[in-house]
Amino acid sequence: MQAVQTNGHELSFDESENQKMIAQMVRDFGSREIKPHMMDWDETQTFPIDLFKKMGELGLMGILVPEEYGGSGFGYPEYVTAISEISKIDGSIGLSVAAHNSLCTNHILQFANSEQKFKYLPKLASGEWIGAWGLTEPNTGSDAGNMRTVAVRDGDYYIINGAKNFITHGKSGNVAVVIVRTGAVGDSRGMTAFIIEKGTPGFTSGKKENKLGMRASETAELIFTDCRIHKSQVIGEEGYGFIQSMKVLDGGRISIAALGLGIAMGAYEAALKYSKERHQFDKPISSFQGIAFKLADMATKIEAARLLTFRAADMKSRGLDVNKESAMAKLYSSEVAVETANEGVQIFGGYGYTKDFPAEKYYRDAKLCTIGEGTSEIQKLVISRSILK
Ligand SMILES: Cc1cc2nc3c(=O)[nH]c(=O)nc-3n(C[C@H](O)[C@H](O)[C@H](O)COP(=O)(O)OP(=O)(O)OC[C@H]3O[C@@H](n4cnc5c(N)ncnc54)[C@H](O)[C@@H]3O)c2cc1C
Repeated sequence: MQAVQTNGHELSFDESENQKMIAQMVRDFGSREIKPHMMDWDETQTFPIDLFKKMGELGLMGILVPEEYGGSGFGYPEYVTAISEISKIDGSIGLSVAAHNSLCTNHILQFANSEQKFKYLPKLASGEWIGAWGLTEPNTGSDAGNMRTVAVRDGDYYIINGAKNFITHGKSGNVAVVIVRTGAVGDSRGMTAFIIEKGTPGFTSGKKENKLGMRASETAELIFTDCRIHKSQVIGEEGYGFIQSMKVLDGGRISIAALGLGIAMGAYEAALKYSKERHQFDKPISSFQGIAFKLADMATKIEAARLLTFRAADMKSRGLDVNKESAMAKLYSSEVAVETANEGVQIFGGYGYTKDFPAEKYYRDAKLCTIGEGTSEIQKLVISRSILK
């Protein structure tokens, strides 16, 4: 895969040595450890927890975490390479690696105090622990700031009641960063982020979703019933949880852009290969302009998605504000994933509709990209607010 990086104002289209190394490592690992099992995990909705431990050994569970906390210490361009290469093989594994790295782990990395970082980051970065991140509630998804799960102060403790849903690793996560209400509804400073460990009394998981795609990535409810959490588990200051979350999502959206890019690349490459092998009317179907033009559109849109994604990644690595750029990358790359996967099925014809070929899985997995971490409509809201201010 060719990478794109912007150095200052100059565009570089060369992949760094680290990116080449990561891409090759993921390809080797994926063909050995993911490809042989992924349709079984998909069929049975198995979250392959041992796979994540192995990915921890390779440094893929703490890609952005500095080495002092046991991570790989890479920047966003390397992170995008890792997520897109994993997702090219299996989007559901890409989604879980992305949620672990850029939501739970990154919230702690960006906003926790030193004691919390030394306590949790080494476990998360090594893959010993799986992380979850809970913002969404049954009645508040796009409008997350209107959340109703509440924490009430009781001396040195907070008592949490309520539920979060659609949480990646809601059952298997060893630790969750959870954002709950500590102030008035409608006040963006009325929410606080807590680190909550599995096994804490009053903290349980609920329904596991039975999903269209991304079926090896576990999605479940988190339930809080008089859950007592010590004030030392607050991330940053009380009242800053929502503001922190919006910043976490600016980075998280780059990972969903990378997820979409990877799924699009996988769907395209499978369709390209098939179009040269499949013969109709005594010719490979790639020789028909109707098919060749589909492939041309797919390839062009993937390049554009790649440019937007690596540009946002490069800016993020340089500490620049990426609110608009990450939303643009996420919006475009997600929509390209859906379009490419759709055309992929079309190129495979009837075989594309069966589970004997990879096209149908890309098609099912791709749709999550336009929904998770802010729908396409919400990305347009973020972009339009930025360009109209
Ligand atoms: C597989 C999966 C994994 C997930 N993982 C996590 C996780 O780990 N942690 C977490 O906190 N959440 C997670 N989510 C939740 C996800 O972020 C939400 O589903 C998403 O933000 C959309 O919220 P919603 O589902 O409530 O849809 P709604 O907000 O109800 O939206 C429904 C529709 O209305 C549209 N809409 C809403 N508001 C507007 C508006 N103002 N203008 C125009 N259109 C609008 C939306 O775009 C959408 O089309 C996950 C979801 C899935 C499916």
